[in-house]
Amino acid sequence: MKVLVVNCGSSSIKYQLVNMNDESVLAKGLVERIGLDGSVLTHQPEGKDKVIINADISDHSIGIKLVIEALTDAKHGVIASMKEIAAVGHRIVHGGEKFADSVLITPDVMKALEECIEMAPLHNPPNIMGVNACSKIMPGVPQVAVFDTAFHQTMPKEAFLYAIPYEAYEKYGVRRYGFHGTSHKFVSQQVAELMGKKLADLRIITCHLGNGSSIAAIKNGKCIDTSMGFTPLDGLVMGTRSGGIDPAILPFLMKKEKMTAEQIDNYLNKKSGVLGISGVSSDFRDIEEAANAGNERAALALDMFAYRVRKYVGSYVAAIGGVDVIVFTAGLGENSITMREKICNGLEYLGTRIDPVKNNIRGKAQEISADGSEVKIFVIPTNEELVIARDTKTICGNLA
Ligand code: AMP
Repeated sequence: MKVLVVNCGSSSIKYQLVNMNDESVLAKGLVERIGLDGSVLTHQPEGKDKVIINADISDHSIGIKLVIEALTDAKHGVIASMKEIAAVGHRIVHGGEKFADSVLITPDVMKALEECIEMAPLHNPPNIMGVNACSKIMPGVPQVAVFDTAFHQTMPKEAFLYAIPYEAYEKYGVRRYGFHGTSHKFVSQQVAELMGKKLADLRIITCHLGNGSSIAAIKNGKCIDTSMGFTPLDGLVMGTRSGGIDPAILPFLMKKEKMTAEQIDNYLNKKSGVLGISGVSSDFRDIEEAANAGNERAALALDMFAYRVRKYVGSYVAAIGGVDVIVFTAGLGENSITMREKICNGLEYLGTRIDPVKNNIRGKAQEISADGSEVKIFVIPTNEELVIARDTKTICGNLA
């Protein structure tokens, strides 16, 4: 069975064609600048040269059509015809409270996705466009929605509610939803497997540290709390996002700087985080380089980032009554040896000891805690596409 995994942004389509017989990736690629000048498809078939196709890609349907053409092309294709694609799995950012698991997309599901637009105005509309584009170009092929929010739906009410009038939750669904759910789910399952333990017996803290960062407290395989909230702005310090701040800062700055609601939203989402503190970049590689060259604000940004992660780890230990293993994943978590060290130095009180030699790795699944460390530490590369492909296979496999 071959599954096409699709992740649509407002002007982009990321895709992977996965052979579910052995979970190998047959091809992957990216359509960029949809609806803009210079739109392009970069197609990477497994074991063959990368192909760059410049074309006028005015909408997502044309983008999907080009992806199918690339996948079935006589020279750089990997399948003989579109008929080989048994199902499509879509990454959908927000599933609200309606979806605690992945689902087969039906007209009713589409209606529910439309209702979630208000909560994810930047993300859900392009996700929906992707589903519509696939329906148009590949009619009859079953499609599955895999939600960033679903894994966190097990959070108890005391963890997901904000202490504002209850009516805000009832009327508008204002609550903590959490994001990066597929990643937290994947690495928690992987770490249990690597440790040779049952998920049901573990207390896990998963740190997804990338441009967007979030952390989750997982007990018996279920998410108990997570740092992103109603939107992906809450929680940890991020590349350009502030993470949690005193909400009273918003009206204060809006008055002082004469900012509109949209402007303050942009300020907190795009101009803050390690970019706002360092003034250097949102990319941790640039900030680490600047800090090494003596830039004090770059060093401060890294310290603030690590401090916030440590603080969350401490609070999540309290939330789940201890911890057996801490997992690092995503761009920074998988690759930054120094950031992992910075975070773990200071967690020794938990019985956590990082091994500097084992920690000297990038992008590889491995234990990095020292022998005898009571709490284990692991690096696990995330693979959200594989989770989407697996869920799609499970749901569509049951259709036959
Ligand atoms: P993601 O959002 O998961 O793709 O992660 C992107 C972030 O990971 C960027 O800020 C990168 O700077 C960071 N990153 C990737 N590789 C490294 C590395 N070798 N050292 C430090 N940061 C890295």
